Amino acid sequence: MGFEIVRTQSPRPRPAQDALGFGRHFSDHMFRMEYGPDPAKGWYAGRIVPYGPLTLEPAASVLHYGQTIFEGLKAFRGADGSIALFRPQMHAARFVQSADRLCIPRIPEELFVDACRELVALDHEWVPGADGASLYLRPLVLATEPFLGVRPSLAYTFLVITSPVGAYYASGFAPVRIKVERQMVRAARGGVGASKTAANYAASLAAAERAKAEGFAQVLWTDAAEHRYVEEVGTMNVFFQIGEEVITPELDGVILPGVTRASVIELLRHRGVPVVERKLALQEILEAHADGRLREAFGSGTAAVVSPISALGVDGELLTVGNGGVGPLAGSLFEEIIAIQHGTAPDLFGWLVPVPSR
Ligand SMILES: *Cc1c(COP(=O)(O)O)cnc(C)c1O
Repeated sequence: MGFEIVRTQSPRPRPAQDALGFGRHFSDHMFRMEYGPDPAKGWYAGRIVPYGPLTLEPAASVLHYGQTIFEGLKAFRGADGSIALFRPQMHAARFVQSADRLCIPRIPEELFVDACRELVALDHEWVPGADGASLYLRPLVLATEPFLGVRPSLAYTFLVITSPVGAYYASGFAPVRIKVERQMVRAARGGVGASKTAANYAASLAAAERAKAEGFAQVLWTDAAEHRYVEEVGTMNVFFQIGEEVITPELDGVILPGVTRASVIELLRHRGVPVVERKLALQEILEAHADGRLREAFGSGTAAVVSPISALGVDGELLTVGNGGVGPLAGSLFEEIIAIQHGTAPDLFGWLVPVPSR
């Protein structure tokens, strides 16, 4: 698909590869497309323009009622210098699901993938080469209509911005302590927990801050109704290995359907490791810990890939998971996914989509 391209007149200095961090630097260009107020036009005026501030009316409905969705995916540089996106179609499909839930007009999946591909092709010099480093893409839609009534906006902007990010574990693959959250709630059944939308993040901040003040890296969310079943860890999906079996909470409408989660499940099945998606009660985890069957726990998400959990704080008690170090599953999944992303292991499942060189 040919998009109009307006090239920047003042390319930005590229940060040093060893000081990238996460989400602080932005590339030269962004993708932009509009919708409304005439719905008959659909999405229009797709173009790539210099990265820069938006003009938004203070009455824009996104600022008041949070009608917005986002995605997060990565482009990697392979050993041969070529660039590929990791599973962009899955992100495009999830963007449509999020749009439907938030009453936002759908971005056609092909358009989403084309926008990502063309933007990365133009800003290819911004894709870092180091192992584990990548260009993080952040597609988003925001409601722009200046109107304070409560109903879906009549106008929207679709943007894709990109940020070069370093390897998530700059100082080594480190397991983290997690606090089991038994008071605050991230998402409830029937709500927007399964959609990638700002509201879930806003709702999560206070619990995460409190956990950090208590010496934990994040919280393990439990269900809103009874605080009995585990759901997600921070903003990642969660896996537990109890005995031989690997268990992750089923996609029940509260859990965000992670692309990394799906990738971990596929890799484990391919290895012949039993994986089940089902409700998992905290009690079951406590019992497994008590009789020595709790072998591993880890989070999964695009930013970190896999994040091993060393210990769980449960109502003031600290329970060590396994031996408190990086378990063999978390370690090997992390290595394998990164190797596929950088093209140093075979892409058995066709997860990489090449970005043409321009
Ligand atoms: C994005 C996200 C995840 C992880 O999804 P990935 O596609 O693997 O990055 C998990 N939980 C929440 C709440 C998220 O927003």
